[in-house]
Amino acid sequence: MNMNRRDALKVGAVSVAAVAATTISGCAETGTAGAAAGGKMLGHHKVLIIGGGMGGLTVANNLKKIDKNFDVAIIEKNDTFMACPVSNTYLGKLEGMNLGTFVFDYAAPVEKYGYGMLKSEVIAIDRAAKVVTTAAGRVGYDILVLSPGIAYNYEGQFPTWSKAHAAEVKRACPPAMISGGEHVALERQLKNMDDGDVIIAAPFGKFRCPPAPYERAAMIAEFMRKEDIQGKVYVLVPGAKFAKMAAFKESAKDIYGDKIVYVHHAKVDDVDVKGKTVHFTQMVPSGKKDEDGDMIMKAVKKSHKYQVCNLIVNHKSSPVVQMATLQTTADAFKKVKMAGCTFQTATDKDVYAVGDIVGHAIPPSGQTAVWAGKQCALEIAHRLHGKSYTLGVKTTPVKAANVCFSMVGGAPEEGIMVTHDFSWTGAVIKGKGHVPKAPSGKFRSKNTAKALRDWYRGITSDLFA
Ligand SMILES: Cc1cc2nc3c(=O)[nH]c(=O)nc-3n(C[C@H](O)[C@H](O)[C@H](O)COP(=O)(O)OP(=O)(O)OC[C@H]3O[C@@H](n4cnc5c(N)ncnc54)[C@H](O)[C@@H]3O)c2cc1C
Repeated sequence: MNMNRRDALKVGAVSVAAVAATTISGCAETGTAGAAAGGKMLGHHKVLIIGGGMGGLTVANNLKKIDKNFDVAIIEKNDTFMACPVSNTYLGKLEGMNLGTFVFDYAAPVEKYGYGMLKSEVIAIDRAAKVVTTAAGRVGYDILVLSPGIAYNYEGQFPTWSKAHAAEVKRACPPAMISGGEHVALERQLKNMDDGDVIIAAPFGKFRCPPAPYERAAMIAEFMRKEDIQGKVYVLVPGAKFAKMAAFKESAKDIYGDKIVYVHHAKVDDVDVKGKTVHFTQMVPSGKKDEDGDMIMKAVKKSHKYQVCNLIVNHKSSPVVQMATLQTTADAFKKVKMAGCTFQTATDKDVYAVGDIVGHAIPPSGQTAVWAGKQCALEIAHRLHGKSYTLGVKTTPVKAANVCFSMVGGAPEEGIMVTHDFSWTGAVIKGKGHVPKAPSGKFRSKNTAKALRDWYRGITSDLFA
């Protein structure tokens, strides 16, 4: 192992607190932080948005682009915005990808567009009274937009774990699927690791950015290659398939040989944090067939020691959705049921939703959150101007496209992509995914890696420039 370089990396760790210390300047804050929860009425806004992430910020920016006189405010619990898309390249230590690449100051869009921003955490929503309660006080609204993203479902995935054990595992094996300190914790663990294996356990059910765990495997293998760390990246895959599987596997084999090992039908049972061991169950062929000729699978208990573990637990909608008592889908994710093909919720005509919590059959991604945010802003703007807006009820299909890039190699940089065409007629949404091959006949290409960087620059300047 190249000790000099790795020691230098360890010393050079950047504190997230230092980066996150940026304050929101120029924001029309709605009230004073620190007042008793549920106490003081801080103000009232025509449109109040919960969540200043990719979806919520897009709604706010676009409402003010359409009409600067609209009275809009965002409630966001974090001081700064940190992007999840492309953040795996930070783990891979690709050129120019450091913490600063992903952290943005809310001051720029707030000053440019002139909406209000309250830095506080939403703790309750009273739809009857049209009031949102935050840790800083209460805010009234005429129209409410929810874009609070996801939460981790430890209790659903590991019902026998105590809260203390779940918290201990979360600290030791950060999922890093919600922006903030977890990404930094994971990166620091990688920097400090010795020779040995990394385990990435992928979630099951619906989750944000389905290719993300598999892109992460490639970027961690890239980091280990660069740092000459002897060991493998074991990816525990819950089922037989995963997003862009053929493309990821082709790239992994070509670029990293046998460094990335995909362990299919494997689900985590427990983590021994002190012993740095993951215990999991893998379903393997039993050698016997059932009466239809299908192989009978048997459960085998296994354990694997790790140097670094990234346990990506299952996802569910942010608790904000529950606070709003909205109708949700029956699955464990509990996405918000929508009123046909609009971004108005099925439960309440004055409550809209965008981003990962939306119950539409569109892929949960930053790209779709931004697209949905623009559509939602159009819907609300038409309503505020007393006009009708017919996108969701046209008789001809409306088409939109989503593209999701993943970096699979660092030297040279190469990327893969999946495109989703989604369309609807009336209340029916259809989505179709496609993973194209490059002219070389391989899935990955340098051009796609360049497109990934261009996409990231474009989407973040759309939000923050
Ligand atoms: C590793 C990784 C890689 C990804 N790569 C891609 C990619 O390449 N392309 C792509 O398109 N997408 C990608 N995504 C997905 C993308 O980041 C999400 O789909 C997108 O951020 C969803 O937007 P959102 O507005 O729903 O949620 P978020 O962007 O998560 O925003 C939610 C906001 O709400 C705030 N909030 C939550 N609860 C409260 C509360 N109670 N009070 C106040 N504020 C609150 C949060 O602090 C947050 O700022 C990736 C995700 C991950 C994790």
